[in-house]
Amino acid sequence: MKPKYSYELNFVSLALGKHEFNYKVDSSLFEAQDVSEFEDVNCSVIVYLEKQERLMKLDFEIDGFVKTLCDRCGESLQIMVSTENNLVVRFAEESDFTDDEVVFLSETASVIDLGQFIYEYVMVGLPTRRVHEEGKCDPAVLQYLEEVSEKEEDADN
Ligand SMILES: [Zn+2]
Repeated sequence: MKPKYSYELNFVSLALGKHEFNYKVDSSLFEAQDVSEFEDVNCSVIVYLEKQERLMKLDFEIDGFVKTLCDRCGESLQIMVSTENNLVVRFAEESDFTDDEVVFLSETASVIDLGQFIYEYVMVGLPTRRVHEEGKCDPAVLQYLEEVSEKEEDADN
């Protein structure tokens, strides 16, 4: 499956200097990466791009939310997303140099697909434990879980 929106940025026609781009993110970006844990995703991305002679600096600002299931009660949980990430794109044929914040593109490249970066920035920005705030879980589910664990304790005795 392909993402609903395109994140391909044609930079070759851009003048040197600063530019700004806006993108929308929905769940299709994650489904395209075989991530199906989100019921809903709604984020907006602003990319501030500075084009220089031999490199480009990109600042990503991602804001919005994802909806997934709570690790504790299994009900729908909305997590706010608010991240800032920086990326430097260098035009060179080097490929053995690796760095989270620097990527190399061929000098003949004209387009960069930002989808992979946006996907990673959102994923890295999410908490590893995804639960409702204390007291906000579905009480019926919590009560059920408590009863099940009590029965298990009784069975052990
Ligand atoms: Zn919960």
